[in-house]
Amino acid sequence: MDDRDKPPLVISACLLGVACNHEGRGSPRAVVDELAQRYRLVPVCPEVLGGLPTPRAAAELTGGDGADVMAGPGSSGSVGARVVNVEGADVTAAYRRGAEAAVAVARAVGATRAVLKARSPSCGSAAVYDGTFTRRLVPGRGVTAAALAAAGLEVGSEEDAAAPAPPTGGGTDQNPS
Ligand code: SF4
Repeated sequence: MDDRDKPPLVISACLLGVACNHEGRGSPRAVVDELAQRYRLVPVCPEVLGGLPTPRAAAELTGGDGADVMAGPGSSGSVGARVVNVEGADVTAAYRRGAEAAVAVARAVGATRAVLKARSPSCGSAAVYDGTFTRRLVPGRGVTAAALAAAGLEVGSEEDAAAPAPPTGGGTDQNPS
């Protein structure tokens, strides 16, 4: 199939091996090759798009998940959900900017699906770290994952994309969070 005939898929740039994560590395995954057979890949790194440098201090969500961050202070259930880095700096504005840029890219290319890096404070689609920098996970989405989902995209992780299809008519416990 000609690449132009494939549907667009927004994908975390680090999954393609782009050295854009907070350590200045990529996170290449074999499933990307399989996705590239079926989709026209549109790589985005929301943290870079939001204006953050690479490498950068690790950051985590606190006071709510990415949907709460996008809703802003005073939204129901979360007073002041923020993204704070390990040095104590509030980087919420950059995360919001990056999420808005990712949504703009998705709309520009007409994407209806995104495959995003699991557990990132931007890209996590089912669980994120809890803001204590102790590697504790809580259910929730990253800021960009929440924004893309709110924009109507089907959002999942590279782990979901690599998981075998569930048996017809049966339950699945591939990703219990
Ligand atoms: Fe960028 Fe998302 Fe990968 Fe983090 S997880 S490096 S924000 S693409």
